Amino acid sequence: MNEYQVIVVGGGAAGMMAAGQAAAGGLKVLLLEKKERLGRKIAISGKGRCNITNEENVSDFISHYPGNGRFLHSILRGFDNVALREFLARFGVETKVERGGRVFPVSDDAEKVVEALLTFLSDKGVEVRTGIAVEEIIVKEGHVVGVRGPGQKRYLAPVVIVCTGGSSYPATGSNGDGFRFARKLGHRVITPRPALIPLKTSEEWVKELQGLALRNVEVSLWISGKKQAAEFGEMLFTHFGVSGPIILTLSRQAGDGLRGGEKVELRINLKPALSSEQLDARVQRDFQKYSNKQFKNVLDDLLPQSLIPVMIRLCGIDPEGVVHQISREERKRLVGLLQALPLTITETLPIEAAIVTAGGVDVKEINPKTMASKRVEGLYWAGEVVDVDGITGGYNLQAAFAMGYRAGCAACDGSLSVV
Ligand SMILES: Cc1cc2nc3c(=O)[nH]c(=O)nc-3n(C[C@H](O)[C@H](O)[C@H](O)COP(=O)(O)OP(=O)(O)OC[C@H]3O[C@@H](n4cnc5c(N)ncnc54)[C@H](O)[C@@H]3O)c2cc1C
Repeated sequence: MNEYQVIVVGGGAAGMMAAGQAAAGGLKVLLLEKKERLGRKIAISGKGRCNITNEENVSDFISHYPGNGRFLHSILRGFDNVALREFLARFGVETKVERGGRVFPVSDDAEKVVEALLTFLSDKGVEVRTGIAVEEIIVKEGHVVGVRGPGQKRYLAPVVIVCTGGSSYPATGSNGDGFRFARKLGHRVITPRPALIPLKTSEEWVKELQGLALRNVEVSLWISGKKQAAEFGEMLFTHFGVSGPIILTLSRQAGDGLRGGEKVELRINLKPALSSEQLDARVQRDFQKYSNKQFKNVLDDLLPQSLIPVMIRLCGIDPEGVVHQISREERKRLVGLLQALPLTITETLPIEAAIVTAGGVDVKEINPKTMASKRVEGLYWAGEVVDVDGITGGYNLQAAFAMGYRAGCAACDGSLSVV
């Protein structure tokens, strides 16, 4: 006999939304979570402030998912950014919009989002059990019958929604269990790999710049000498290479290039608002102004302090030389470097350090109208475990919530036939 009508595996954004929604439809729902607490990844998201979603029109969302945005088309319309903000407001979490349309709780506190979801679960009567790592999804004759937890304990239900997340930040609980379940059940899993991941460089000088954030720069990605993409915004130097929003956005393609054995480079345009002629004119003006100074003392108007010694070394102009002695060719070299500071990418950080996992359960085997598996009756997938990934800006949480919502609703719609 079934103990429950729905079992949700994993209590992250997708799982909590799916469980609450299924229970809101009147079903008896059990949520099983491996960790002692629910929503651990939400709690650390957006540096603890939780960038829940983005303000832009939902019809423009799709282009921000390099991983299967089209699959999300109707899913996002079913539970969009407006619906998510209204949902949170009902539980006392007012939201605000910041640069780039990023939506955060007014409190700047991601825990408030987790608390709202916990209230949702208890209001709807979801039974939550934590500290239970599901080990297997039990299927009989092509139909889900429940799950097996530690010590062979079985939990029975005709509907199981798997929301186990990806493989990144395993300390939050998402260590790829869902991918193992999927493979065992005959689902195709697109190789999980890091997306939104910092990049390592071969240039040692990045270490000197550790902690330096550059705003309003343009970084272009070059793979085997061909320009692939460019992003404008903020980046950060680290002790191993580069990070920050625009680097994370470029990292997915950079990683694909590296895995394909290609040469991967970045070029930083430190003055993207100026054409090379305009920048040259600007440098000439500075050189005229400081014509009797040493070269090492004239870049303060142009560059952040910590970058000056690095640029001086890289452009090969004598730092002790007097400015009016700098040749046209040397000046052009400096201008070129200011607009295309090159970095050679050697590798990404490991998947564990990624903000999001690319790859996962193949969307071709999931019905986007319901999130139901096309392989196993009664089985649903939602959240990062699915082969969908977005760029930074609130797109990944929005996708997880929307997929969870759809799976939860679909479980209710199908409940009469399956229970
Ligand atoms: C540092 C960081 C910052 C981020 N910031 C943002 C942001 O600001 N905005 C944004 O949109 N996205 C952000 N993301 C991405 C976003 O948090 C995730 O894409 C989203 O939380 C995925 O939700 P999910 O429910 O699919 O998976 P998860 O949140 O990973 O939840 C999966 C849950 O399943 C549980 N679980 C796993 N296996 C089992 C098992 N076998 N049995 C039982 N339970 C299991 C896990 O313990 C976990 O609780 C960030 C990610 C990271 C790592």
